[in-house]
Amino acid sequence: MQITMEQIQKWDEGDSLKKYRNEFYIKEDSIYMDGNSLGLLSKRAEASLLSLLDSWKNLGIDGWTSGEEPWFYFAEKLGELSAPLVGAKKGEVMVTGSTTSNLHQLLATFYQPEGRRTKIVADELNFPSDIYAIQSILKVKGLDPEEHLIRVKSRDGRTINEEDIIQSLNEEVAVLVLPTVLYRSGQLFDIEKITKVAHEKGIIVGWDGCHSVGAIPHEFHQWHVDFAYWCNYKYLNSGPGGVGALFVHEMHLGRTPGLTGWFGSDKQKQFDMEHTFTPAATSGAYQIGTPHIFSMAPLLGSLQMFEEVGMQKIRQKSLHQTRVLMELMDQELSGFGFQLANPGEDACRGGHVSLEHPEAARICKSLKEQGVVPDFRNPNIIRLAPVALYSTYKDVFETVRILKQIMQEKLYEQYSNEREVVA
Ligand SMILES: *Cc1c(COP(=O)(O)O)cnc(C)c1O
Repeated sequence: MQITMEQIQKWDEGDSLKKYRNEFYIKEDSIYMDGNSLGLLSKRAEASLLSLLDSWKNLGIDGWTSGEEPWFYFAEKLGELSAPLVGAKKGEVMVTGSTTSNLHQLLATFYQPEGRRTKIVADELNFPSDIYAIQSILKVKGLDPEEHLIRVKSRDGRTINEEDIIQSLNEEVAVLVLPTVLYRSGQLFDIEKITKVAHEKGIIVGWDGCHSVGAIPHEFHQWHVDFAYWCNYKYLNSGPGGVGALFVHEMHLGRTPGLTGWFGSDKQKQFDMEHTFTPAATSGAYQIGTPHIFSMAPLLGSLQMFEEVGMQKIRQKSLHQTRVLMELMDQELSGFGFQLANPGEDACRGGHVSLEHPEAARICKSLKEQGVVPDFRNPNIIRLAPVALYSTYKDVFETVRILKQIMQEKLYEQYSNEREVVA
């Protein structure tokens, strides 16, 4: 059945999350489809940032312990508020560091090569920064990444077969590090199953949640995930460079992290200024230095909306919008050389739709010129992410209509097919 504008309007009218769109700053005459790369600013995030700025203005150093949000406990508070996003218990999540620096911290803690068990398994489609971090921890331990980093191969260049991951797990593997959702194709892994199989083989499992936290519900505690880490500036709308987050399962808490610093101390002990480190009993132990208060502040306002709505509703709308987007592409864009790169089934699909096209770079430039903000990934991928809290079905419909016009009128031909510095 054809998807018509009338149908689109009905979906928008019946959308139980529609009131949240007004909470965001959305440019007029612009369709934002890049929330999986950098989420938009909300009024609540702006308010929480300004409120923290005020505490500095009014309190000076006393802002650490007084005011509405005492800075000394702010990372812990945001960690508690983030816990429901990943199915964590209080004390398992901390807002600190960045995706990459948190991976360094977690590998420094959990990667303990011993005897024949020296290898780290990742996948060949993983985000480069995660791979760089793994390569560097191997070097720190005096091991050759060529030999000790195993990257599970993709059969089709887009997805990783879960059987191939499982096949790679043997008694030489110490740690498995995977993304929950692949950043290019948007493939969502069966986190629970893979974690369970790896544990049966005595392997520690860590997940990169950058492309799922804020888009998909998780049960990290219940699934016995050992550790996880993610950024807050994609689906969680905390702003450019917003502080990241990490999860350490309760079963591992209480030990001293691989990288230590005074903000990882037990809070009662920290200002004793002793040269003997006493770690916090929670994942707070994984903090290193003074928290970046203003880069964390927008997250406070943003998380309120996630708390109000709950991840189930967000996932439900996201799955429906990406489904509609794929159906519209099927309906309108056949014959233009596009190839869908993301898995079609709901159980294996993240929050974005991924299109391959040989002219992808310049099609993206043309989309931007026409008011649609897409996301280009080298060499040939157009990622489109309708975001449940602020994207409408009309946004989805218009994106496909404009894309069709660009292809029909060959509007992309006026641009060069090369990526920009930041793509
Ligand atoms: C966005 C992203 C990163 C970015 O890392 P930062 O340290 O936040 O710059 C890393 N890994 C994955 C999978 C990502 O999607």
